[in-house]
Amino acid sequence: MPLKSFDEYVVLAEQAHGHICAGQILGLRMALYGLKLLDLDDPLGKHRKRLITFIEIDRCATDAIPVVTGCRLGKRALKFRDFGKVAATFCDVEADRAVRVVALETAKQKAREMFPEIADKNTQQMRAYRELLDTDLFAAAWVRVALGPEEFPGYRAACVDCAVCGERISFKREVVRDGRVLCKACAGERYYTPL
Ligand SMILES: [Zn+2]
Ligand SMILES: [Zn+2]
Repeated sequence: MPLKSFDEYVVLAEQAHGHICAGQILGLRMALYGLKLLDLDDPLGKHRKRLITFIEIDRCATDAIPVVTGCRLGKRALKFRDFGKVAATFCDVEADRAVRVVALETAKQKAREMFPEIADKNTQQMRAYRELLDTDLFAAAWVRVALGPEEFPGYRAACVDCAVCGERISFKREVVRDGRVLCKACAGERYYTPL
């Protein structure tokens, strides 16, 4: 299953995301660029177990990335770090290298210059993001991502129970506070308020 044509990815992204938009095009291009830099061309086939992707925003582009990489949250191959940035890091765990790709704000201006006759911004960017060079759309940098065994798909280890709420915690996400094992919620990172 080597890489598909861009148009095939567009169809799949539209299905996955519910509509087609500039963010889908950008996300597809971002994932394809990441794979190109890592020299991986068969993410759903022979390179299936080599990729882990970190994404840094929950916006349109995010949905397009697994369409190309096959990395999914439920398979533990997609990691969400909510930094509010249109950026993703593609890790080749076999070659032990990773590249972080960030979308450039200047691409919007380039889209305006490329298609000034298209008034609708989304349409303008959809068209331009197909054609602009990778380096017009993105900045890329090689990075090191420290991945403990607990980050990998298929990780098996003893779970622990939180000393306060009693709920089960997997994948070493517990926090030890004053000698007690706590879940992150009970340790103060709770994002909800019990009623
Ligand atoms: Zn969208
Ligand atoms: Zn707890």
